[in-house]
Amino acid sequence: MQKKKQVGVGTKVPTKHTTRTDSETPVEGSRTLSQEEWDTMSSYKSFVVGSELKGDPESHSQKFFVGNYGIIVPAGSESLVPDLHEHWVGKIKEIRSDPDDNSEVWAKVQWLWSAEDVAEQRKRFDSNLYGKMERFLSNKYDFVHAECFQDLASVVFYDESNIMQPFISEDTFYYRSTYDYKRNHIMGKPSATCLCGVHYDPDKEEKDSIMHFCPRASCKRSYHTSCLRKANSVDESWKNRDSRFKATSTVPRYLQLERMLPHIPAEQTRSPADSVFLTTNATPSQMPPRKRRPSVTASQDTIVNFDTHALIPLSLLALARSPMVKGAGTTLPRNIGVVTGNIAVVARARKLLAHLMESEDFARDNWEESIGLPREDISTWVEEDEGLLCPNCRGAI
Ligand SMILES: [Zn+2]
Ligand SMILES: [Zn+2]
Repeated sequence: MQKKKQVGVGTKVPTKHTTRTDSETPVEGSRTLSQEEWDTMSSYKSFVVGSELKGDPESHSQKFFVGNYGIIVPAGSESLVPDLHEHWVGKIKEIRSDPDDNSEVWAKVQWLWSAEDVAEQRKRFDSNLYGKMERFLSNKYDFVHAECFQDLASVVFYDESNIMQPFISEDTFYYRSTYDYKRNHIMGKPSATCLCGVHYDPDKEEKDSIMHFCPRASCKRSYHTSCLRKANSVDESWKNRDSRFKATSTVPRYLQLERMLPHIPAEQTRSPADSVFLTTNATPSQMPPRKRRPSVTASQDTIVNFDTHALIPLSLLALARSPMVKGAGTTLPRNIGVVTGNIAVVARARKLLAHLMESEDFARDNWEESIGLPREDISTWVEEDEGLLCPNCRGAI
């Protein structure tokens, strides 16, 4: 039976480098492990890098388990402590050690490639269209000495079509795609849902690069602010502000936005009389021609009576009426709000609002908890309405 125990490695700063076998130039002093050497080693479930020295507050040790992600200083790096996004990221698939030499601890690592790494392998691949914390999960493996690991890394899969995608913080690596190293092929490319055919790059800081998300079951698409403007996908009543206050059949923007709900199960719906209006979220004048109207049924979107807003906290209303946006050009909290935007929190706010309206109930004192935000942070997730329309369903976004 294989040994399953923890092994220790006694240095604080990595002293060894590894080369990735895709790297063109081997690094001086680096050592690689052959498959034959690996095969003779014993398996372990974890290893420790660094040591805790009594009385030394600077001392630090980190334990790594099979299944953890780790960051590694790239071979040839000018700095021993590069910025987080400049590190190599790998998933520890297996740990082995030389039974006769406890300092020889190695991990089999599955690499997550940066866009720059992929660009080195693929012609006509534009690495500028991807985030600096973005990685591509690959089928490329190498043996890496334990001392090369700097720290644990947080890595998540980013599903852009998931309205409830949890926040991705600024120090979390994420991947939307996988990279087949053997066939030099990318799978699951980010879907280019905008009119321009260019996918979302969370790092673009221009305000025009903000993406507006339409959560409707028939859409679930994101559009660049600039592309919506170029296509004149702008609310007519918004262009002529005065008309907003005239008694017309146009549903006010704030109502359109708060009713723009993601999928809600049919059992939560009611009031069939409202279904035509509420399942399209648009007035007749805003609807596309009949043959192009999205085939949305009452079971796909919520139907809720919106009679009164009197019992609703103003901050909840403001959040529910915010456009769903994402990107570095937004005013959202930079530490957790940029990559995934405010989509999930606004969706939760709209659902809570719909529930309160339907049940004609008061919001609980701690309603912010169900949105998943501290009370004082609610307003930081509200983005200004720019009067834009979804080109697909013509709803406010
Ligand atoms: Zn676009
Ligand atoms: Zn839409």
